[in-house]
Amino acid sequence: MVVIKSVSARGISDSRKERTILVSIDTNVGKFSASAPNGKSTGKYEAKPYMKSLQGDIETLKKFSDYFSEEIIDEFSDLRRVEDIVDRHVGANTLFALESAILKALAKEKKKQVWQLINVDGARKFPRLVGNCMGGGKHSQGKKKPDFQEFLLIPDTREILNGSNTNKDGKVDAEIILGQVDENFDKKKNDEDAWQTSLDDKRVLEVLSDVRTNMRDSRKIKVNLGVDVAASSFLKRKKYHYLNPMLSRTGEEQLFYISNLIKNFNLLYIEDPFGEEDFESFSALVKKFPKTLIVGDDLTVTNYKRVKKAIDEKSITALIVKPNQNGSLIEVQGVCELAKKKGIKIIFSHRSGETDENILADLAFGFGADFLKCGITGKERESKIKRLVEIEKSLRH
Ligand code: PEP
Ligand code: MG
Repeated sequence: MVVIKSVSARGISDSRKERTILVSIDTNVGKFSASAPNGKSTGKYEAKPYMKSLQGDIETLKKFSDYFSEEIIDEFSDLRRVEDIVDRHVGANTLFALESAILKALAKEKKKQVWQLINVDGARKFPRLVGNCMGGGKHSQGKKKPDFQEFLLIPDTREILNGSNTNKDGKVDAEIILGQVDENFDKKKNDEDAWQTSLDDKRVLEVLSDVRTNMRDSRKIKVNLGVDVAASSFLKRKKYHYLNPMLSRTGEEQLFYISNLIKNFNLLYIEDPFGEEDFESFSALVKKFPKTLIVGDDLTVTNYKRVKKAIDEKSITALIVKPNQNGSLIEVQGVCELAKKKGIKIIFSHRSGETDENILADLAFGFGADFLKCGITGKERESKIKRLVEIEKSLRH
């Protein structure tokens, strides 16, 4: 068993050079740390990252250190006691980092991998990688850019290295094509290390389709396409305000537009195509495309009640799980169990502001995620992929 002796925290920089939290614990089996990422296109219903501020949470943990001392953790479900101690005193980022550090200690003490603490049934399914190739919206700079936030490559393989190398090749291919078709392309990358482009959404999807064809011909691999619309980020007064080209769409027009994109580009995956309150439009889309991954992120925010509502109202066929949108890994477990029971696909996801922390890979594998969305390049993104490869290798021996 793990005996926590003390808890502390400090601020570190994320990939966007913004401050985030690193929590450290001292235990009978050594010292362990974990950090949390930061979102930018955050959902209105996400749990707050900090109670009042990052500094405030750092001080709270210091004050609470005594409450933790001699706290004993012996299995995943003991995290509930940790949650009881800090309940309503710290935010989701702090709780997530704290619980992650505790899982690392527990894994060490049990001579197990973190994923094995969760995956008690020993399931062996690896997630398919979802890689951000080109981007727009809140994650990109510049005046002219796509309105959609992410244009995604989803190789049809569960072999992580194959999937990762396909995505990397696809991103190089996209760079070449953008150089030919986007006169403003300057090889700059956005928050998630995806290409910034001045093309509009449809033209980016044409580039993505060409990448799909090229990957099929050169690597002999099927790649599916996806989009994170992040529609709440340009929804105001019941209209979707597009800038590239400038026009606005009503909810009904948005449904029509999105439906056409799914058909014309044969999209497998479409995330947050409507505003975060609009369970109804999501349901209408699911009705039209029951086999497409209609994904809730801002809609569901890894919150059990919202996920349940989305499932009950048949608003989604798939679900983003961002552990730090919630903080409680016990609730993350509940969300995953519910989704699995109801046949909803699970996509574990990074945030746009990331750290080198790689526990997301263990959580995705441990909770049996169908997909892992964690970017294609950049050290903070690749640390998660590398960790999955490590898990893959360890299982071959
Ligand atoms: C997303 O919307 O899926 C995303 C990763 O963005 P952020 O981390 O900025 O919320
Ligand atoms: Mg999203």
